[in-house]
Amino acid sequence: MSFHYIIVGAGSAGCLLANRLSANPQTRVALVEAGPPDHNPLIHMPLGLALLARNRRINWGYTTEPEAELNHRRLYWPRGRVLGGSSSINAMIYMRGHPLDYRDWAATAGPAWDWPAVRQTFLDLEGNTALGPPHHGTTGPLAVSDLRHVNPLSRAFIQAGTECQHPTTPDFNADTTEGVGLYQVTQKDGRRFSSARAFLDPVRHRPNLTILTGQQVQRVLFSGRTATGIRLATRDLTLTQGGEVILSAGAIGSPHLLMLSGIGPGDHLQAMGIAPIHHAPEVGANLADHLDITVQAATGPLAIGLAPRVLPRALRAAWAFRKGQGELTSNVAEAGGFAKSDPDRDRPNLQFHFIPAFIHDHGRKTAWGFGLTLHVCDLYPQSRGTIRLASPDPAAPPSIAANYLSHPDDLPTLLQGLHLARQITQAPALARHIRHETRPGTATDLVADIRQRAETIYHPVGTCRMGTDPAAPADPQGRIRGTTGLRVVDASLMPRIIGGNTNAPTMMIAETIARTICA
Ligand SMILES: Cc1cc2nc3c(=O)[nH]c(=O)nc-3n(C[C@H](O)[C@H](O)[C@H](O)COP(=O)(O)OP(=O)(O)OC[C@H]3O[C@@H](n4cnc5c(N)ncnc54)[C@H](O)[C@@H]3O)c2cc1C
Repeated sequence: MSFHYIIVGAGSAGCLLANRLSANPQTRVALVEAGPPDHNPLIHMPLGLALLARNRRINWGYTTEPEAELNHRRLYWPRGRVLGGSSSINAMIYMRGHPLDYRDWAATAGPAWDWPAVRQTFLDLEGNTALGPPHHGTTGPLAVSDLRHVNPLSRAFIQAGTECQHPTTPDFNADTTEGVGLYQVTQKDGRRFSSARAFLDPVRHRPNLTILTGQQVQRVLFSGRTATGIRLATRDLTLTQGGEVILSAGAIGSPHLLMLSGIGPGDHLQAMGIAPIHHAPEVGANLADHLDITVQAATGPLAIGLAPRVLPRALRAAWAFRKGQGELTSNVAEAGGFAKSDPDRDRPNLQFHFIPAFIHDHGRKTAWGFGLTLHVCDLYPQSRGTIRLASPDPAAPPSIAANYLSHPDDLPTLLQGLHLARQITQAPALARHIRHETRPGTATDLVADIRQRAETIYHPVGTCRMGTDPAAPADPQGRIRGTTGLRVVDASLMPRIIGGNTNAPTMMIAETIARTICA
């Protein structure tokens, strides 16, 4: 059987595309995912997020190359490898970014990506159960809700923020992002609402939609420069005449597959023994991510923590979760906010994520005891990295060089963020819960501390940027220049990293392009 559309990757973008493109019963769509179905109960129980990084079955678990400005550390990069992709393992924060981010997109990718247009698409997708017009959609397929359980320390963080002159923000997706408050989450009835739940579950029964799991795509097949299908480990899937392969394999997976298929920097492909089909120097380039540093402090048992005495509390939480209530519905990163490192900036360039818990090594190490963690990240880093092939073997992970802090402006911004975060943890409302600061703790050289401890907050984008200029690998509808029948539709397309979390914006990208395909 051949397909009109073969979508590679069932993540935030891929599940949405599968839904939209299979709406016409005459259109045959295949959705091919490397990972398994999303049966693991920890995916659906929001607090289970704290344990998901340990599960190699549903997580690509990448590591970067040694990062020169971070003491040559290799950073851990989790990415979902399961139905729902990273939306099945993420922290569920619903955030669109700043309106001015999309003005910047429009400058290089055209007016379809300007705020008035994308705002409407966000509203159309949104099924908000707590907030309504004018800033929110209430009838869309993506469930967005208030947290059902908020730890008292998260409320103390908000109060501490106001004590430091940050305004309180009841809604980060209204007029401005600036200030501190509680995040809204992609949850329904206290359970995670991944892209798979929002967009695949309602349409799995469609006879014209074929969903394949556990199938890692090895490359795109071409006749000349026209895509004709994809190669799996044991067979090929083919396109009908005029059909399209759509790569929605994420900001790492999509450029990886493009290069395995002969589309990328010609000299690099030749060095890897891959015959170039189209020389596209910017495939895998422009990698941007939010680098993050934390303040951590030991607290009493108000925090979410591990100790023998929490057993009764854990049992109560398990009982409450049967009805979608209680502590297990927490996304851990319950509160946060946005601030400017310099008051003259036109938009906030720092984001806080407050966690009423200790999380060590992205949750891969067990954290005994009680504590809190205040994250702060630089939203608009100037540093850019690359995704490159480490091997022509499709099973080998690509080489990720984030080049964090390689631009001289980035370190001072993060340092300023660390100062602001520390100010908040030292404000009376939080200070009264803190026994002692553990990180940076007694470290006196905060620059050295950043180099030793900074980590990703999981928002890599831009590795196949869309643009109206011919150097952009993709045009403003995600079509790969120099080829026919091949698109990328996922976080790789972002022309510039946005000032917020990247899940909803990736869905917005997929919805915008699905509309042009179906028009
Ligand atoms: C731990 C974590 C926490 C995060 N927290 C938040 C948050 O709270 N809020 C927020 O807005 N954003 C968050 N993000 C970011 C957000 O989830 C991502 O930006 C978004 O999901 C990216 O969507 P995507 O469609 O580009 O890629 P993904 O959702 O990653 O989907 C790519 C899919 O392609 C599949 N794939 C890759 N290669 C192949 C191949 N060769 N063959 C077949 N399938 C393949 C993958 O397995 C995956 O399922 C977080 C991310 C992580 C990892």
